[in-house]
Amino acid sequence: MELSALTIHELHELFKAGEVTSQQVTEAAFQRIEQVDGKVHAYTYLCREEAMREAERADARIRKMDIGPLTGIPIAIKDVICTKGLPTTCGSRILENFVPPYDATVVEWMARDNPVLMGKTNMDEFAMGSSTEHSAYGPTFNPWDLTRIPGGSSGGSAVAVAADECIAALGTDTGGSIRQPAALCGVVGMKPTYGRVSRFGLVAFACSLEQIGPFAKDVTDCAIMLNAIAGHDPRDSTSIPRPRPDYTRSLVIDIRGMRIGIPREYFIEGLDPEVEKAVRNGIDVLKDRGAEIVDVSLPMTEYGISAYYIIAPSEASSNLARYDGVKYGFRDSDHKDLMEMYCKTRSRGFGPEVTRRIILGTFALSSGYYEAYYLKACQVRTLMVRDFQMAFQACDVLAAPATPSAAFQAGEKLDDPLQMYLCDVFTIPMNLAGVPSISIPCGFTSEGLPIGLQIVGNHFEEGKVLQAAYAFEQATDHHRRKPSLT
Ligand code: GLN
Repeated sequence: MELSALTIHELHELFKAGEVTSQQVTEAAFQRIEQVDGKVHAYTYLCREEAMREAERADARIRKMDIGPLTGIPIAIKDVICTKGLPTTCGSRILENFVPPYDATVVEWMARDNPVLMGKTNMDEFAMGSSTEHSAYGPTFNPWDLTRIPGGSSGGSAVAVAADECIAALGTDTGGSIRQPAALCGVVGMKPTYGRVSRFGLVAFACSLEQIGPFAKDVTDCAIMLNAIAGHDPRDSTSIPRPRPDYTRSLVIDIRGMRIGIPREYFIEGLDPEVEKAVRNGIDVLKDRGAEIVDVSLPMTEYGISAYYIIAPSEASSNLARYDGVKYGFRDSDHKDLMEMYCKTRSRGFGPEVTRRIILGTFALSSGYYEAYYLKACQVRTLMVRDFQMAFQACDVLAAPATPSAAFQAGEKLDDPLQMYLCDVFTIPMNLAGVPSISIPCGFTSEGLPIGLQIVGNHFEEGKVLQAAYAFEQATDHHRRKPSLT
């Protein structure tokens, strides 16, 4: 087995036993990148020299047995999360030369353990998209079939983990951008409760919806990563002051008596039959393990996409106003006056999808339309929160498909934004409601494409979500299958 195909917890044991060094693993991961990244294009930036130095430092700590769960582990970071001294482009021309002077809280907190930062991963521009085709730096491809998309917007992080170009990664999820690519690439991906993980140093797209979360090769690694990044951060006013449990303690396979709700609105027309079959088989596995299956309803589901595509672009239009060519990033040099500089900078700096969102959001917030669109969408959002609260009176967690279909062909939905938006029909409601949710591998289509099972919990019940996911994983081996890239 390739060293970079191992998990965090496997490597941790090998480090402690002195059988493998962080430098060997890091070297193996960079070799893997050399072999496969030309095909998949998961990374936008690699920091090989710094990484090798980090690995050396980690090995020194390991020799002294001063070792934390992430010590010496090669990690990749989505290029929307600020990394001191390393480019952070958000997949956009407008931030082409931006090098943040500080680390995001999640990066700072992980660094206590001395992991090895491999580089920054590709993404849809400003995290707007579901295919990683809207990157100013070119698309990322799915390692299971290079003619297909990996999902998005955190496609680079999902692929880096799936293709063994790193051990684990960080992504962000505003409407599905961790869970959807995790499902389509056959890895584990989790969006924590809104407020569980600090957003300080995350370049904002839609502040009220997004969370940073892990991509991992299995559920245990996901819990380890969540341990490293979750907790209260006074620098993010929406971060919740609540102690962080040790999520690895939730990794118990006994789920007897756990009530698992099946939301009937998630098994609708348009759901691919192969996806439905794999998800239903997955639910049967949980049942065999002693879980009690209950039928629940989330009636507001059908309004999720509409509400999201008012709220997210509204927040985006306001958040992206700061890119005016003055303080940082790209500035168009050909201009007569300030107004022309603004206009040219923004129209040349932003790609078509980001431009569309800014226009949509500006419209939805403008006088006269605000009440009709933005306010209405916020009311729908309140009803969605209530939907989940009602459902969680009848069950502990929900189980549903993560996506309506497996990975689609590159280019297939590029000219039809609405089709692209529909990819997130099963993931958006959790962002609107702020509840935690995971996608785990639960099977493959006849063409060999991965399928994701989504498990959703009530606010701050990441533990129950991880427990159900772990019980499922222990009973199956979908997560062990690897794409053959070489
Ligand atoms: N695909 C959704 C969008 O385009 C969600 C993106 C995300 O979660 N960042 O907005």
